Amino acid sequence: MPHKLFEIDKEIPEREKHIYIKHCSDEDNEIDCNKSTIPGCMTERGCALAGGRGGVITGAIKDVIGLVHSPVGCQYYTTGVKRYPSKPQLPNGKTFPIDNFNLKYSFGTDLKEANVVFGGTKKLKEAIIESNKEYPFASAIYVNSTCTTGLIGDDVDAVCKEMTEELGKDVVAFNTPGFSGVSQSKGHHITNDAVFDRLVGTKEPPKTTGYDICLIGEYNIDGDLWVLEKYLTEMGLNILSRFSGDASHDELCWMHRSKLNLVRCQRSATYIADLIEEKYGVPYKKVDFFSTEYCDDNLRMLGRYFGLEEEAEVVIEKYHGEVKEELKWYKEQLSGKKVYIFSGGPKSWHLSIPLEKELGLDIIAVASQFEHLDGYDKMKARVKEGTTILDDPNSLELEELILTNKPDLILAGIKEKYLAYKHGIPAIQIHSYENGPYIGYEGFLNLAKDIYNNINAPVWELMDFESE
Ligand code: SF4
Repeated sequence: MPHKLFEIDKEIPEREKHIYIKHCSDEDNEIDCNKSTIPGCMTERGCALAGGRGGVITGAIKDVIGLVHSPVGCQYYTTGVKRYPSKPQLPNGKTFPIDNFNLKYSFGTDLKEANVVFGGTKKLKEAIIESNKEYPFASAIYVNSTCTTGLIGDDVDAVCKEMTEELGKDVVAFNTPGFSGVSQSKGHHITNDAVFDRLVGTKEPPKTTGYDICLIGEYNIDGDLWVLEKYLTEMGLNILSRFSGDASHDELCWMHRSKLNLVRCQRSATYIADLIEEKYGVPYKKVDFFSTEYCDDNLRMLGRYFGLEEEAEVVIEKYHGEVKEELKWYKEQLSGKKVYIFSGGPKSWHLSIPLEKELGLDIIAVASQFEHLDGYDKMKARVKEGTTILDDPNSLELEELILTNKPDLILAGIKEKYLAYKHGIPAIQIHSYENGPYIGYEGFLNLAKDIYNNINAPVWELMDFESE
């Protein structure tokens, strides 16, 4: 019985194939995933625009105007939904005049009925020219199409081509109408392809070294990237490009000059690593830096690859040494606490082993809104028998799980956090974090602290919560 139908799903029996109970003798049984949400389910997924622009990828780039061609509603997914800070320094030695430009400013065409009836390209051109006039220092303009502009057939590519010539800077089209895929995952794929087709290979870096790497799928959530940069730089590597946390437009254009690409978020960004390897012969490695053990392993792997073994050991000793004792204490306090990981993407498999092994937690359910089969295979391989694995879960299923299993903590996004609170269950934002960064040695300690503080907050004893 590897699949399970929740009580709440009785009227939508198709959900059974999306919910799997890990069973050691049934490894071949697949989870239904990366398909359209079943009618009747109130999905928590985002759309392709959300995936390409706001959720990750282009929303993290610090020196571009991100312009959404749509009625104003889609604008919500352009900025502020993720915490990916950026520093104003640019690779050409200049400083971008507005700090955290990518988080503070949002641009859109705000289409109205007349534009939908007669076409929106005129308004798009005006918006590109106007935003460039307001912020002439922006290195490029990225334009996202949406459901409305996809349906009315505005030729965004042609407008961007014309504007590139007129303005003398890259104006790039990302064709991300929400309906182009079943979830935000499609937006990741489209955006990877567009960056590769339109930008990679179009510029050369100011200098190269034999130790140049590109961090792919690292979005600098709450400063994650800066932690990794510190380790990698200290061991002698040079970060040539980032895709795309704290990245500049130019860095994307010279990703082809990297000696090795490291893929952090393997769901949203392996696409571009594959394309770069195929065309430019740059190899890539999939890496994992959540937890001390994964950090040790991956830094050692990089040390071996670049002949920097000793340097890697120095970094490991320094930073692992700083957190070892404190993590031991947290493990003693947290051992046996039951946890769900309801991440949007692949954190369910990144974190399941480290949380059990290094913090003593008991992972009893994991989920993803948009993982594909390869990701679920990793989840199945990394969770213990009896763990519930859910694809495209909805709030009612989460509620049923909470009432049935009474977990001690839920690691989830903003959509689940307050539902958990309503039932008196501590919840931590694992998408945008609480007091991050969460990656690396010190990041894993931050996560342990947040987990401990949430579980032990006095509020859970002081209030009455809905228990059924
Ligand atoms: S692109 Fe489509 S699905 Fe996405 S926010 Fe806009 S209208 Fe909604």
